[in-house]
Amino acid sequence: ATPTALMVGTGRGAQLGILIKGPEVLESTREVDTVVLDKTGTVTTGRMTLLAVHTADGTEETEVLRLAGALEHASEHPIARAVADGALQKLGALPTPEDFANVPGLGVQGVVDGHAVLVGREKLLAEWAVELPAPLARAEAGAEAAGRTAIAVAWDGEARAVLEVADVVKGTSAEAIGRLRALGLTPMLLTGDNRAVAEAVAAEVCIAPEHVVAEVMPEDKVDVVKRLQAEGRSVAMVGDGVNDAAALAQADLGLSLGTGTDAAIEAGDLTLVRGDLRAAADAIRLARKTLGTIK
Ligand code: ADP
Ligand code: MG
Repeated sequence: ATPTALMVGTGRGAQLGILIKGPEVLESTREVDTVVLDKTGTVTTGRMTLLAVHTADGTEETEVLRLAGALEHASEHPIARAVADGALQKLGALPTPEDFANVPGLGVQGVVDGHAVLVGREKLLAEWAVELPAPLARAEAGAEAAGRTAIAVAWDGEARAVLEVADVVKGTSAEAIGRLRALGLTPMLLTGDNRAVAEAVAAEVCIAPEHVVAEVMPEDKVDVVKRLQAEGRSVAMVGDGVNDAAALAQADLGLSLGTGTDAAIEAGDLTLVRGDLRAAADAIRLARKTLGTIK
């Protein structure tokens, strides 16, 4: 394509809400055959709500909300916001943790009112040799079967509760994924969340279970992209989070959401300004048109 055509393409992209880092990006956009979509914040709104609290025998719900809420209040993760907001609504105020740490892909840990508190995946508790008692394990299985995310809460070496949190699929995601498929691409869903939740979201946007890669640690997302590339695919990655940055950089084409984190925007080749996935399909159409594949 001529430099003029590329410039026109870039300008048209801006009108469609697509920021293109450089004219050469259009070339990689045209070649793509597989689109890997991050789940949380990309296919879903990332705005989660606390829907239920299942407590262990002898544990008060208010105590769970106070300790878990206090810790999650210090995190910016969408799940953390849901827990903190739910706790604040019930309790009005929360203590400030004496100690706090994010454990990427697993949850948060810290000290609240002298208690060593863990909030996150069952795997986080397992790292501290804390097991879920049978009733809480059943609550977790029930939540996940319903497509919700189950978050475990433990303090002082004992599992105390399972929280149910759910996120909703963006109104435009199913249509966007349909359009990507109509362009001949294979959409895939990639997430650190558990398989049941991932498949429930995938079903809503018509992605088959065999195209779902779940329970992937943040640092391993990049390996999923590498593996697909090793199979000979040309991969576009769409993501919003800090945990997507390496995968966005590795992909043949990185599409970041304008509503996402700076790290993701920095790592991407293209930015979908409004966070609407339909713009991903627009970008691919535009690249093909600009480079003369379709008229
Ligand atoms: P995704 O890949 O879907 O964007 P993450 O890699 O950020 O998700 O997180 C993976 C999983 O780790 C979450 O689904 C959740 O179970 C757990 N997790 C991460 N951060 C938190 C937190 N602050 N509170 C509770 N659970 C968390
Ligand atoms: Mg995300």
